[in-house]
Amino acid sequence: MEDFESHRIIRADRLNGLELSEIVRISEKAAYLRKQGKDVVALSTGEPDFPTPDFVIDAAMVAARSGATRYTPTAGTIELRSAVAAEHGRQPGEVVISSGAKQVLSNAIFATVNPGDEVVIPAPFWTSYADMVRIAGGVPVIVKCGVEQGFKLRPEQLQSTLTERSKWLLLNSPSNPTGAIYSAKEFSGLAEVLRGHPAIGVISDEIYAHLSYKQFTSFLAAAPDLADRTLIVSGVSKAWAMTGWRIGWGVGPTNLIKAIIDVQGQSTSGTCSISQAAALAALEGDRTLLTKRCDIYCKRRDHVVAKLNAIPGITCTVPDGAFYVFPTCPFDDGEFCAQLLEDVGVAVVPGRAFGMPGHFRLSFAYSDANLDAGISRMARFFEGYQK
Ligand code: PMP
Repeated sequence: MEDFESHRIIRADRLNGLELSEIVRISEKAAYLRKQGKDVVALSTGEPDFPTPDFVIDAAMVAARSGATRYTPTAGTIELRSAVAAEHGRQPGEVVISSGAKQVLSNAIFATVNPGDEVVIPAPFWTSYADMVRIAGGVPVIVKCGVEQGFKLRPEQLQSTLTERSKWLLLNSPSNPTGAIYSAKEFSGLAEVLRGHPAIGVISDEIYAHLSYKQFTSFLAAAPDLADRTLIVSGVSKAWAMTGWRIGWGVGPTNLIKAIIDVQGQSTSGTCSISQAAALAALEGDRTLLTKRCDIYCKRRDHVVAKLNAIPGITCTVPDGAFYVFPTCPFDDGEFCAQLLEDVGVAVVPGRAFGMPGHFRLSFAYSDANLDAGISRMARFFEGYQK
């Protein structure tokens, strides 16, 4: 009773309907089983297994020693904003630096979505998108884009989904959880629909852009005329293996960037000064290591896809980017994943967490040994599970 009372006092109505993230739930369960002494192979987390490059760590140490220990401007240091602007062919005033791509996304949604506004989200989608919209009082409008359409939104689907309440279309290429990449032609098709709806903006989450195994196209490269209503979201977390440093950025029209800065100014202020110095070094540094790592991910991808497709009952398409595969699961994906973890200690995430049941997500940002062990156990488990 006491718990209920305090729960009622603490949680705001706008949190109703939010559930603990399935990825967090799985990770916690995996950690719990490990603590019990169980041998768990986690293939559930979207985090590079590589370390942050040494030269980035060196730059952070130099920055800390030389006084980069104070508040920075809310929007980020001018050095980092300028480097990001150069990266995207824009001006520093069109850039905001936040604590990860995630904060850029939540700031942007918080800064723009009014109660009842609709945000169109093609499914499968990264788990946080829909809940961010809900917290802001908006309505996530989920559009199913199954494997038969390469997990990508089609122009006619977009056309029939848009209403006068539509505020944003939220795109993610390369995609988490499918690795799908939109081609320039596919983006152009969507842009053509958007031209008929001038009040709708596009948030294009391109955090995995540097982890592409085929030609990557930014949404804006395909539709430069929509720059005044497009926010590009990216950062150093994935490609530079810097998830813990918490640096992401948004690039967009100055009025939108200003609104994001206003939200950030009243919440976290500027992000970590030392991390910003590190991200600057990353952007300005040699990228050979990135290419090398990308090649390693690509080899792992091929290996993982082949091993999964060899399991009768599983079909796995080849992802074009990021470090996930999203195979079909012929069983209830939630039950299957829970049982898989419980019985053979392999953690993967059910497709329902991404708005698409009937699949599961496996991250290949793990060592070959872990991937082999995890998929072999899965194959054995799968055989028994079918009987
Ligand atoms: N967008 C997508 C599609 C992601 O997968 C992630 C991380 N899982 C993020 C954004 C957040 O990135 P960051 O760690 O920079 O906040």
